[in-house]
Amino acid sequence: MKTAEIRQKFLDFFASKGHQVVSSSSLVPGNDPTLLFTNAGMNQFKDVFLGFEKRPYNRATSSQKCVRAGGKHNDLENVGYTARHHTFFEMLGNFSFGDYFKRDAIHFAWEFLTSPQWLAIPKDKLMVTVYASDDEAFEIWAREIGVPEQKIVRIGDNKGAPYASDNFWQMGDTGPCGPCTEIFYDHGDHIWGGPPGSPEEDGDRFIEIWNCVFMQFNRDESGTMHPLPKPSVDTGMGLERISAVMQHVHANYEIDLFQNLIAAAARETGVPFSQETPSLKVIADHIRAVSFLIADGVLPSNDGRGYVLRRIIRRAIRHGYKLGQKGLFLHRLVADLVEQMGAAFPELAVHQAEIEDALRQEEQRFAETLDNGMALLEEALSGGKQRLEGNTLFKLYDTFGFPVDLTADICRERGIEADLDGFEREMEAQRARARAASSFKMAGNVDYSGEDTLFNGYEKASVDATVLALYKGQ
Ligand code: ATP
Ligand code: MG
Ligand code: MG
Ligand code: MG
Repeated sequence: MKTAEIRQKFLDFFASKGHQVVSSSSLVPGNDPTLLFTNAGMNQFKDVFLGFEKRPYNRATSSQKCVRAGGKHNDLENVGYTARHHTFFEMLGNFSFGDYFKRDAIHFAWEFLTSPQWLAIPKDKLMVTVYASDDEAFEIWAREIGVPEQKIVRIGDNKGAPYASDNFWQMGDTGPCGPCTEIFYDHGDHIWGGPPGSPEEDGDRFIEIWNCVFMQFNRDESGTMHPLPKPSVDTGMGLERISAVMQHVHANYEIDLFQNLIAAAARETGVPFSQETPSLKVIADHIRAVSFLIADGVLPSNDGRGYVLRRIIRRAIRHGYKLGQKGLFLHRLVADLVEQMGAAFPELAVHQAEIEDALRQEEQRFAETLDNGMALLEEALSGGKQRLEGNTLFKLYDTFGFPVDLTADICRERGIEADLDGFEREMEAQRARARAASSFKMAGNVDYSGEDTLFNGYEKASVDATVLALYKGQ
């Protein structure tokens, strides 16, 4: 079953259950300063959950464009390392705005996955998790659906911190949230990994396919939870992950759509096609994220969303370089993407020329410094070094335009520790210099416009908490 067919089936199923089919919203969240990019299907319905907005329907379904490359849900560092994470992906979802709750949500999900009329996935390949104290969800799975109790795992709060659990979903630090139940698919014991809740759960054997969130609270800035006006449902299933299941392959990268993008990446970088080459997977992943972001109006820049976009583009270029492609290549993959996804997302074809231009320009800019930066880096890493110093990370960033996570990624590939704390100290010193320079200019009454962009660039380039956690003490 092709990816496009699975997307359609999902929407048809929920339409048949009285859900309004709603188009994906933009990757740039409308009116929500708490969010970097749209990271879940529920984002566009946030105000409906909160009771601030009314819609003419109380059940909806969508296939939502998502990017998780920054903020609370950041998967950028996972791409290329796990079978299941993308920067850009599609989230299939069904939503109840104060209409049905746990029972129907669970029954719908199970019916869609296992009914012979729909996906017909063998039931014994599935297992589920519930929030530790959610007896109601446990009972529905055990008594009504008939999942064996040993295949229903209760997941509690991490280290006793309240509501910090894989089974307590939240969009961000504030906003709608609630306990959830998740459905996992077992790809077989030939793959390393254990069931959720086990020490090996981070392996790729049991892959989470669907998360059903029982929206019950709104968390405010102080962390206080306020009950929502009406208990609601928000679910999300990764289209690429369910496609892998339906196409009897393990990794998302083996599905139809990705095979074609990987082939295109191989063609443009001049290496043989292989789904074992991480750099080809990274390029195939990143071309989707960057093209969809540009189509939604983001452009590479030195701060905010534009800087995250720039980081992803430069990461893709560096992976091409690693494969030996030193010329411009990335923009040539846009046509392949339009071929793969243009029917479902017409905005790609509409903005094709703009996307190509933006990527070509970014490739030209980075090409000027990439070679020199790589030479400096190779030099710094030569001689069996175990650690890359903060001042080199900073020089690569400041002089050669290497986003710090890009350099950290290269270090990680080679098992070398990147001194991110040292980098932070260099950044702080640079900020102090910039501040001193700008107040000096102000005192002299000189126009200092332009200073802001520079300043923001330095602010935003600082290391993401997730990146730090990954590399610290390696
Ligand atoms: P994981 O634990 O695998 O990182 P998650 O728990 O962070 O996933 P949710 O926030 O529950 O994911 O999102 C709902 C669904 O969206 C997931 O069950 C999965 O199918 C899909 N999904 C989440 N993140 C990604 C990603 N980076 N790439 C592809 N699909 C994803
Ligand atoms: Mg995740
Ligand atoms: Mg999870
Ligand atoms: Mg989840």
